[in-house]
Amino acid sequence: MADDTIVAPATAPGESAVAIVRLSGPGALALAARHFRGKRSPEKSPSHRILFGQFVGRDETPVDTVLLSIFRAPRSYTGEDVVEISSHGGSAIPRAIIEALLESGARAARPGEFTERAFRNGKLDLAQAESVAALVRARSERAARAAGAALGGEFSRRIGAIDDGLVALLAEVEARIDFPNDVGERIDGAALARTCGAIADQVEAWLARIPSARRREEGLRVALVGRPNVGKSSLLNAMVGHDRAIVSEIAGTTRDVVEGSIWLDGAELKLLDTAGLRSAEDAIERMGLERAERALAESDLAILVLDRSRAAEEAAWAAGVFRAMGGENGGAAGGVNGGGTNRAGALAPSRTVVVAWNKADLAEPGGAGGALPRLGGVLAQVETVAIRPGGIEPLIAALRDALPRVFADAPGDELPTTSARQESLLGETLTALRRAEAGLAVDASYDLIAVDLTDARRALGEMLGRGVGRDVIAEIFARFCIGK
Ligand code: GDP
Repeated sequence: MADDTIVAPATAPGESAVAIVRLSGPGALALAARHFRGKRSPEKSPSHRILFGQFVGRDETPVDTVLLSIFRAPRSYTGEDVVEISSHGGSAIPRAIIEALLESGARAARPGEFTERAFRNGKLDLAQAESVAALVRARSERAARAAGAALGGEFSRRIGAIDDGLVALLAEVEARIDFPNDVGERIDGAALARTCGAIADQVEAWLARIPSARRREEGLRVALVGRPNVGKSSLLNAMVGHDRAIVSEIAGTTRDVVEGSIWLDGAELKLLDTAGLRSAEDAIERMGLERAERALAESDLAILVLDRSRAAEEAAWAAGVFRAMGGENGGAAGGVNGGGTNRAGALAPSRTVVVAWNKADLAEPGGAGGALPRLGGVLAQVETVAIRPGGIEPLIAALRDALPRVFADAPGDELPTTSARQESLLGETLTALRRAEAGLAVDASYDLIAVDLTDARRALGEMLGRGVGRDVIAEIFARFCIGK
């Protein structure tokens, strides 16, 4: 147990109705008592009570009317004595409260220190602690649900199930090392190899689903692709305006910049300004094609914007892009949903492209531009008018319909959030398991197989924090925000 008492704001600074300051450690109750004037002293209060009173400075000057929530060890978030002080919001009052507590001997908490103490006191395993950070960071409901699942122990249960299988297998292998004669016939290495393979398959399946889970967490990359002047920026603005209240600006990768986000069905769609495509006015046709291909290949979902008033010409251009992607240039066809066999002229069926025929108001009804040209492999084709209120609704609806396809996994089977650290440990587990499997299949030395299996178990254990060095742990918690 830590011997000092830490303090930090638990709510974000800024204008708000209520702010919470959190104190944790052996001196939490005494420190709170020193600054609290109410009917009952925090030191005398039972756990899980709320006390009403005044928070006062060291010289007894009143700071604010507050509520103290009392949590006695070990029944608290950190496992230590915890007092949460709810005051009026804003930045001045919480700051005054924290300063008073610091003067009285509390120490300012480092980022993640509350959660780190919870981990050290056995309230959470490391996987759960990491999911706390993911939960705070989550940018969509789905991501929050996944992090919540991990926090609830779903992650640890999955690891536990894999480890149970490994323990049984290891016992078999060790029995053959210790009592080689008791297992009778040259034991069935093939059967053990199959058992080991099945466990490895489980780990592999988990690993395979991480990219899609991570997309859910970090938001989908949605590229707007099309020739200059077809209305890409107008559409982008209209979409962002559609959701103005929750738009955020985030820097994307070096390649492109996220212009804004919209949220659909709990998922974040980051709209990317695909670098260069818009300023490609001068570009030789080939150049425009290459950029469009790249943008298509690197996004999770592409909106191909075509000009409805020049339908035939635009359809020919689009067909060229698709042909280029489906042709010898196989690399570009990989994309997020994996490759797939492409017919020339058609898009990989796994790729998610929605075509927005923009400037629908300029289409000649029944004329040359009347019927929409068919484009192979496209998920949906809709008509939009970017510059008219309500003119992009068909596009929003099509994007919403496309989401299950992009996430490409069954609803209800949500993967708990997996950090990069955990992913690499899962990778180590898999490598060790495949080595053991191969060894069992050829009746290799059981000592060596036991080493591989033990290695796999070590990596699994590290995911939950077993045998993880202090420095690694410190680094994990350093990525948290203050007060968590
Ligand atoms: P970008 O180069 O593809 O980003 O195209 P812009 O968004 O800059 O649009 C080019 C021009 O087309 C601008 O003058 C827009 O006002 C206009 N525009 C965009 N969408 C529509 C539309 O749906 N209908 C009409 N009539 N004009 C549009």
